[in-house]
Amino acid sequence: TPEPHGLRVSGLGAGYGQGLAIADITLHCAPGETLGLVGRNGAGKTTLLRALVAQLPRDGHVHYAGTCLDRLAPEAIARHGIAYVPQGRGLFVDFSIEENLMLAAHALPAAQAKARDLLTPAYQAFPWLRDQRRSRAGSLSGGQQQQLAIARALVARPGLILLDEPLEGIQPSIVARIVQVLRNLRTQTRPTALLLVEQNLEVVRALCDRVLLLESGRLRQAWDARALRDDPGLIARHLAL
Ligand code: ATP
Repeated sequence: TPEPHGLRVSGLGAGYGQGLAIADITLHCAPGETLGLVGRNGAGKTTLLRALVAQLPRDGHVHYAGTCLDRLAPEAIARHGIAYVPQGRGLFVDFSIEENLMLAAHALPAAQAKARDLLTPAYQAFPWLRDQRRSRAGSLSGGQQQQLAIARALVARPGLILLDEPLEGIQPSIVARIVQVLRNLRTQTRPTALLLVEQNLEVVRALCDRVLLLESGRLRQAWDARALRDDPGLIARHLAL
């Protein structure tokens, strides 16, 4: 019997015209689980995340929280509780921090979008955003923009967040802050599940309950946190093969 909760993907395939960039992807992510996705450049990690949220035409089946998402458009998938933080962040650089956060409300049902505490989860995660809410997003450092992108995803109170290399090119002190925020998402009353694409393997080991290895568009390995603790070099060795 299929697991009614969380994310369940079967036989997912997607590409860019000729040939499939990912094929036959079957995975699940339980409510509150942090699932890592690793693979070399070009393995298909970004394609997998984009296919999940229907930004690419795809085959196969995607279920989330008991609902079939196969025929839904990206906006509808967002309303069902899945947020996507793309690589490169996708912010509106000419708009302020607060405007960027408000724009996330666009995808929400009207009643929810008008709620007084709309931006609370964003400001709770990164309090400096409130202090600098009138700053132009484009004037922020790369690490600050990344925090804003994650905060923007939180506005919709998602049950699952897909993160594409959220720590890429970010200085170590800020990495620690973002990691702490991601960790806190799992310990709140209603834990948020994460599907984390990340090249920083130390962070992957520190955060993930399970890690999947994608190779040439297919899932080749899966490890649980215990296996990664017992053998810290496990992922790196597979990526080097
Ligand atoms: P990276 O770590 O470099 O971001 P990735 O694992 O995220 O890599 P994808 O970006 O998903 O990999 O790319 C998977 C395959 O699809 C690669 O062969 C890539 O060249 C191809 N590809 C990705 N985006 C496009 C596109 N817009 N048009 C055509 N081919 C693409």
